[in-house]
Amino acid sequence: MGKTNRGTPLPPDWGDASRKQQLRRRLLVWFADNARDLPWRKSRDPYSIWISEIMLQQTQVVSVCDYFTRFLERFPTALELAAAPESEVLRYWEGLGYYRRARQLHAAAQQIVAVHGGEFPRDFDQILALPGIGRYTAGAISSIAFDERAPILEANTVRLFSRLMLLRETPSTSAAQKQLWAFAAEILPRKNTGAFNQALMELGAEVCRPRGPDCEACPVATLCPTFAARLQDQIPAPKKKVQYEDVTEAAIVVTHGQRVLLRRRSAGERWAGLWDFPRTPVSNDAANWPGEILSAVAQQTGARIHLGNLFTTIKHAVTRFRITLHCYHADCVSPPPAGPDLEWIRPGRLTEYPLSVTGRRISLLLEESSGPHE
Ligand code: SF4
Repeated sequence: MGKTNRGTPLPPDWGDASRKQQLRRRLLVWFADNARDLPWRKSRDPYSIWISEIMLQQTQVVSVCDYFTRFLERFPTALELAAAPESEVLRYWEGLGYYRRARQLHAAAQQIVAVHGGEFPRDFDQILALPGIGRYTAGAISSIAFDERAPILEANTVRLFSRLMLLRETPSTSAAQKQLWAFAAEILPRKNTGAFNQALMELGAEVCRPRGPDCEACPVATLCPTFAARLQDQIPAPKKKVQYEDVTEAAIVVTHGQRVLLRRRSAGERWAGLWDFPRTPVSNDAANWPGEILSAVAQQTGARIHLGNLFTTIKHAVTRFRITLHCYHADCVSPPPAGPDLEWIRPGRLTEYPLSVTGRRISLLLEESSGPHE
């Protein structure tokens, strides 16, 4: 491995055949001795590998084991899964979360029956064309079930590859992603790709952990430039922190008789289509707020108001904005008529309207303070 003038190793040349050979051999030997005994590893049936891969997305291995076994008992093949009502598939998924995965699994099973006669497709592009299957999942199924030469990249291998490549860039950038996929393809052996891909993921999960990787026990430590440079804490490079911008806004509960004024947020606004109390950004100088609020309410709703008390202040974040929202009461002195995008409603009916999160918090305060209504 080369050295820079400051003694930090250069990224190794992974095009070097003997380096790749060493990596493959050591990983496969290590995996043979250390692979966890997991239910989906008992077979190379593409259907059950697919179910396990979908369940493992965003879910920990320990939580998946029981679900996987129960699911496979009830839906042992794509035919049973495709024929079941969606509500039953969801019941078997209940507790795993991210229910879209279960719906897509069901839709994909129906596609397997309709297009492939119930037989799980073998071709990479046909696997990739199934609902809910991306490049990683297609690669995992192709390599594990069919020993196809398909690379993989998921959270564990992103971290492991970043360290083996001495990748200084944040791995989520598109340039880094390209390099990582290229690396995954470069190191893949010709045969035994399923075991090799699983070994990579297992090493990432069990040894090359995010914090405190166990480099002393790592079978590829002597091939790892990050270990040589003691940069395990800095690679992979963390995502850039979001730069927040502080914003002050006012929301106004405009009352006329027993009713409050809601407006529907228009296209192009934040939360377009949701209902909301009139709301506006205000300047830094609080002395200007009454004038700013009066004119914003008139402009948004046509109402003229007397501004009343501040009744609460809510702090929240939307994308990169940290918002301080001051909430005021106001009496309406010239009420505009209701219309498709403007409603006068009793606080007890606010639950019927879709509101933003802060709109809902304001509405709950109003309902509490106004007591039971019609
Ligand atoms: Fe990861 Fe350490 Fe192994 Fe390098 S030596 S691959 S940092 S566990």
